[in-house]
Amino acid sequence: MIVAEQKPLDEVYEFAKKYKKVLIMGCGTCVTVCMAGGEKEVGIVANQLRLKAKENGDDFVVDEHTITRQCDKEFFDEETARKIKAADAVVSMACGVGVQYSAEVFPDMLVYPGLNTKFFGTNVEQGVWAERCAGCGECVVGDFGGVCPISRCSKSIMNGPCGGSSDGTCEINPDVDCAWQLIYDRMDKLGKLDELEKNQPIKDWSTARDGGPRTVKRDDVKL
Ligand code: SF4
Ligand code: SF4
Repeated sequence: MIVAEQKPLDEVYEFAKKYKKVLIMGCGTCVTVCMAGGEKEVGIVANQLRLKAKENGDDFVVDEHTITRQCDKEFFDEETARKIKAADAVVSMACGVGVQYSAEVFPDMLVYPGLNTKFFGTNVEQGVWAERCAGCGECVVGDFGGVCPISRCSKSIMNGPCGGSSDGTCEINPDVDCAWQLIYDRMDKLGKLDELEKNQPIKDWSTARDGGPRTVKRDDVKL
């Protein structure tokens, strides 16, 4: 899933207080799962803004609404359109994709981000999410026992390790497991250590962000 965390309330308040009526719009998919921008969080942020406005003597109305996904047009139904058009600005509690897509669907509406989008990751324990994929466009985890050296090694080393790890943790951040220790242990367990002796070719980064904004085109499903 896409993992995000809430912006500080003061930052959202600065957007909101410039308008008479602001809609806080949540997203029911990834950001609900990572407890940043779902219906519950929208309710909390909306109430915090209302309280702060009361304390500060600012005069604006805060409405709230959550849709299933802000990255798909089909979920912008009539009720959502009515709520958006009734507002002067929207604070989207979706990931950066949802924020931009909401602005694309409603080009006359000002849409502000309520979250900071972090990475593609997973929930490793209650309250902890960790990065697992950098969207490089050419997945190679099959050569590394299912552990991604690009997103999980701090230096994205394809022919590792760097030699700096200590007690299985990364020299860049001791709170993070060394990806190459994980790769080694996993390949050892799978009886495939010999495969790590193969030199990995230089990666073609044009399939990643380095090649500019990407598009996936599927002629077989295009209308
Ligand atoms: S190799 Fe690329 S696509 Fe596969 S998990 Fe790593 S970053 Fe993601
Ligand atoms: S210590 Fe491990 S994870 Fe950290 S940079 Fe070196 S090889 Fe990569």
